[in-house]
Amino acid sequence: MRFEFATATRVIFGEGTAATLPELVRAFGARPLVVTGSSAERAASLISTLSAATLSVPGEPTIDLIREGARYALQADCDVILSLGGGSAIDAGKALAAIVTNGGEPLDFVEVVGKGRTIAEPSLPFIAVPTTAGTGSEVTRNAVLASKEHSLKASLRSPLMLPRVALVDPELTYGLPPAITAYTGLDALTQLIEPYVSVRANPLVDALCLEGIPRVACALRRAYHDGMDSEARRDMALASLLGGLALANAGLGVVHGFAAPLGGSWKAPHGALCAALLPHGMAANVAAMRARTPRHPALERYAAVARILTSRSDAGAEDSIDWIRALCAELKIPALRSWGITEADLPNVVEKAARSSSMQANPLPLTSEELLAVARAAF
Ligand SMILES: [Zn+2]
Repeated sequence: MRFEFATATRVIFGEGTAATLPELVRAFGARPLVVTGSSAERAASLISTLSAATLSVPGEPTIDLIREGARYALQADCDVILSLGGGSAIDAGKALAAIVTNGGEPLDFVEVVGKGRTIAEPSLPFIAVPTTAGTGSEVTRNAVLASKEHSLKASLRSPLMLPRVALVDPELTYGLPPAITAYTGLDALTQLIEPYVSVRANPLVDALCLEGIPRVACALRRAYHDGMDSEARRDMALASLLGGLALANAGLGVVHGFAAPLGGSWKAPHGALCAALLPHGMAANVAAMRARTPRHPALERYAAVARILTSRSDAGAEDSIDWIRALCAELKIPALRSWGITEADLPNVVEKAARSSSMQANPLPLTSEELLAVARAAF
C-alpha cells in the first residue's frame, strides 16, 4: 500500500467561533481584503471592525473577476484575504490570494485550458469561512474558475493555495433557504461518496468518508425541512468539511466530471448539477463494474455506502442509488433541463466531461455511450 495525505490548514470548528474572526485576521495582517458573496451584509460588522477592503462575488467566479480583483488587492496593498460566503466566495478569495503573490495572467495557471504555468510562490495568507455546508472548499487546494471564452470550468491548483485557516461556524448556515441547503448538502454527499470509491481512495480518506456519510444520511432532510435544527446544521457543516478533506486527497469521479463542463456553460449552481447527476453517475458505475469487473473493490464500497444510507445490513450496491433517488425527489432537485440545457447539447458535454480532471479518479473508465446515458438519465 502506498498513499499520500496532506493538509496544512488549521481547522477551527464550532458554534460561535465566527466571533473570533477579527482577532484571527489581525494575527495574519493589518490590511485585510474581505471577499463575500453577492451580499456583503453578513460581513458588515467584520468589515467595519477591521476597516477592510471588500470585494463581492455575485456568481461563480470567472477568470476576469480574478484578474480585476487581484489588481484591486494590489492597489489596496492587502496583506491577508478572508472569504466569508459559499464556495464561490471561497474559491474567489483562494484564487486571488495566489494571483496576488504569483503575478501575471490568471488564465496561464488554469488546468486543462491554460498554459500550465505552476503556482511557485506561496499565496497571501488566506482565511476561509464557509456560510453554506457543501463545497468543502475551505480545506481544498484548488479554486474552480469559469472561463466564458472556453465555456467550461477549470481549476487553479497548488498545495501552496491551501487556506491557512478554515473557520467553520455552523451558525452561519442557519439562514440558508431550503433549496440551497438541498443543493449544497447533496454536493457534500457526492464529495463523500466519490472519494470513497475513487481509484485514489486510501485508509485516511475512508475514515473521513465513513464519518461524513452517516451524518448526511441523518441530517440533510432535517436541515432542509427545518433550517434552525442546530444539530442537523452542525452535522452538515462537519460533513462538508470532511468531504473537502476527502476530495483534496482522493479526487472525485463521474458526477464532478460532468459538473465542470455543465457549470461552465450554463448558469446553474454546482450543487444542483451534482445532485441531479449523483444517482445516475452511481448507477452507471455500478452497472459497468458488474458487467466488466465484477470483483472490483469499489462494488463492495458502494454496498457499504448503501448499508449506511439505508441502515439495512442486507443492502446491496444498487440500494444506495434508490435511496439517493428518493432523497432527490423529497428535496425537489431539478433535472438538468430546468437549467436551460437541451438534449442536443449532451454529446458535446460528454466529450468535455470525459477529459475533465475529476473523471480521472472514477473507479473505472466509462465509455462515451455510458456517459451519454448518464447525462440523458439526469436530463
Ligand atoms: Zn462538488
